[in-house]
Amino acid sequence: MRAQPTASHFINGEYVEDIAGKVIDVIYPATEELIARVYSATPAIIEQAIAAGKAAQIAWSKTSNTERGRILRRAAEIIMERNQSLSELETLDTGKPLQETICADATSAAEALEYFGGLIPSVTGEHIPLGDDFVYTIREPLGLCVGIGAWNYPTQIACWKAAPALACGNAMIFKPSEVTPLCALKIAEIFIEAGLPAGLFNVVQGYGDVGGALVTDERVNKVSLTGSVPTGKKVYAAAASHMKHVTMELGGKSPLIIFDDANLEDAVGGAMLANMYSTGQVCSNGTRVFVQSGIKEAFIKRFAERAAAIKIGDPMDMDTQMGPLVNKSQLEKVLGYVEVGKDEGARLVYGGERINDLDGYYIEPTVFADVKDDMTIAREEIFGPVMSVLDFDNEDEVIARANNTEFGLSAGVFTKDLTRAHRVVKALEAGTCWINTYNLAPVEAPFGGSKSSGVGRENSKAAIEHYSELKSVYVAMGPVDSPY
Ligand code: NAD
Repeated sequence: MRAQPTASHFINGEYVEDIAGKVIDVIYPATEELIARVYSATPAIIEQAIAAGKAAQIAWSKTSNTERGRILRRAAEIIMERNQSLSELETLDTGKPLQETICADATSAAEALEYFGGLIPSVTGEHIPLGDDFVYTIREPLGLCVGIGAWNYPTQIACWKAAPALACGNAMIFKPSEVTPLCALKIAEIFIEAGLPAGLFNVVQGYGDVGGALVTDERVNKVSLTGSVPTGKKVYAAAASHMKHVTMELGGKSPLIIFDDANLEDAVGGAMLANMYSTGQVCSNGTRVFVQSGIKEAFIKRFAERAAAIKIGDPMDMDTQMGPLVNKSQLEKVLGYVEVGKDEGARLVYGGERINDLDGYYIEPTVFADVKDDMTIAREEIFGPVMSVLDFDNEDEVIARANNTEFGLSAGVFTKDLTRAHRVVKALEAGTCWINTYNLAPVEAPFGGSKSSGVGRENSKAAIEHYSELKSVYVAMGPVDSPY
């Protein structure tokens, strides 16, 4: 098995195995080959991880912010030195093409570590003068944080959570998705090499039940989940019953609005980024593409031409632009949505078929036109390269329709009219918006969802708020003025 890790879990600075856990087979989506086997965490493994995280966090919280930042920045450097091998592993884990993983996964993980490593030394409390008296605030870590990952960005998700958590003085237990368990283990190794004390970043494998056990443990202070809305609702409810802090990065069905005056090539390019990147398996994808009547047919024609030119094939070939879907069940789910789209009367403009010439879970880039708001493919997250084009005539109408969903992760607008762009974005109910581009998520900017798409923000200075809490200290400088 060509990607077999040393053992399933990484706890207290070393690999740990317990084959009593349920088997997790790791299948390379491009060939259906078994590349690794790990085991879901048993209660004994979960206990070890929690005990290690709890013990290590106490000393870590007493280190200076500068020292913590230095270790994170060193980890970022090591990740960049190993970008090639980490990207190859990301490709084996997910099936995403190396052309993508080489610039979007380990690199993005390193950027998060570099950013929070650089930011944390300047994060301080406040002094609040009250005449002679004063209050000062102390920004304190939360304690032991649990990170639970989705399968589409296993390296990035691990570091988007670990970087702010560790920077703020917390420990983390990260449970990768059972679909892509490999990459986080490499990150755990690198943290140790960079000088992070053992026990501060632990990886435990497992299915939802392992996530559930971590979320409900009294010793866990914070839960950050990246996953679907139904899982998010369960995890949020479980965490709330213990009054834990949460960050919820969940799914979406985001609108991308293209006005008649948009630059056609840019709008098509933006819609491709919004639907085809990572074979459509991106939470923030703009899958409801509202196109104004005047530009509609030209847009659809040009999009289909460019979709036909996408190079699909071996993800390890640097020329390949699109790989397979992550697994068989995702392939079946996406093909099922294509059938529903056709049955409900949407016009299939391009694609829609499994690519049988290739082994693995490949599907054609797929475009539906004449999609109506109430069709299933316009309402539910598909998580595959399936774009729906919906027609619209005017701005007020499209804003109301764009917002008519329980999701609120992202949104985009293409127009040359500057004031309209800002007006529309202001009216859209979404945590992350783009004007004349799509799906860029630099670490400097907050990222996250509104409505059912999430709670809290990752990246940027905002993430510090979600991995620390404030203590206020009132200092009296005179005698106590008590009426009793
Ligand atoms: P999922 O909800 O099936 O699983 C996510 C994680 O939660 C997995 O690790 C899983 O094992 C765990 N889990 C499942 N049930 C649990 C429970 N009861 N308690 C604790 N943990 C549990 O999601 P997925 O299929 O792995 O990923 C795809 C979804 O993730 C999509 O909806 C996508 O939009 C979303 N996503 C969101 C973002 C974001 O930043 N907003 C990023 C990537 C993916």
